[in-house]
Amino acid sequence: MARRRMIYEGKAKILYEGPEQGTIVQYFKDDATAFNAEKKAVIDGKGVLNNRLSEHFMTGLNLIGVPTHFIKRLNMREQLVKAVEIIPLEVVVRNIAAGSMSSRLGIKEGTPLPRPIIEFYYKEDSLNDPLITEEHAIAFGWASQQDLDEMVSLALRVNDFLSGVMFGIGIKLVDFKIEIGRIFDGDYQRLIVADEISPDSCRLWDMETGQKLDKDVFRRDLGNLADAYTELANRLGVMPKNQQNDGPKLVHSGDEK
Ligand code: UDP
Repeated sequence: MARRRMIYEGKAKILYEGPEQGTIVQYFKDDATAFNAEKKAVIDGKGVLNNRLSEHFMTGLNLIGVPTHFIKRLNMREQLVKAVEIIPLEVVVRNIAAGSMSSRLGIKEGTPLPRPIIEFYYKEDSLNDPLITEEHAIAFGWASQQDLDEMVSLALRVNDFLSGVMFGIGIKLVDFKIEIGRIFDGDYQRLIVADEISPDSCRLWDMETGQKLDKDVFRRDLGNLADAYTELANRLGVMPKNQQNDGPKLVHSGDEK
């Protein structure tokens, strides 16, 4: 079999050339990084879980008419996606104060926000992904005003969808990050949700206990990350069968009446 051409290796994923023009194979690694890769670990099973979880969220978005790059899952760690030109901005949506916004503005973690707040960060590791304003994005040609308006609208739709999905399984969606890409259709460009949506890029708090079911478990040493992601996958009903740890099954006890 011919070896696939690797296009890009990131912190948590590898991108390979897809089988057809305009497609890419996205491989989910077990690597976990935080603080711009200053903290690193390999967490057994994380890639498998994130492949499934991202599939679940992206499929749901596609079904309600929010365009995403997701085409289909190929196997435990890989999915086929549309090739896009990634806009070099991370779009963060916040419903509850946490993380960098709390430390930057002195707003206590857990404070509900009066409305969702959207932030843009410039994707540049050497600068630690700085927070920017729309003015910077336009002035430096990273995105046009129209792109930014569309990105805000996509991000709010993703927020409404994900908040509802999480509410249904007893979880508060505190904040999340998405990346958005351009696809070209003749002279027209469309913006679609790309990259991944997984607990690596969301903050998820259990509604009753406040337990964290996201990457903060790793960032803040709060326990086993794979266990937290498995709990989320179980609540969503997307746990792959051979990852379920529900013990051996009694097939025939011999004393049925
Ligand atoms: N986030 C992400 N990638 C980044 C930075 C942030 O996925 O490079 C996510 C993060 O998981 C959280 C949200 O974006 O759900 C907001 O993160 P924040 O700005 O609070 O930064 P952090 O505290 O994670 O450094």
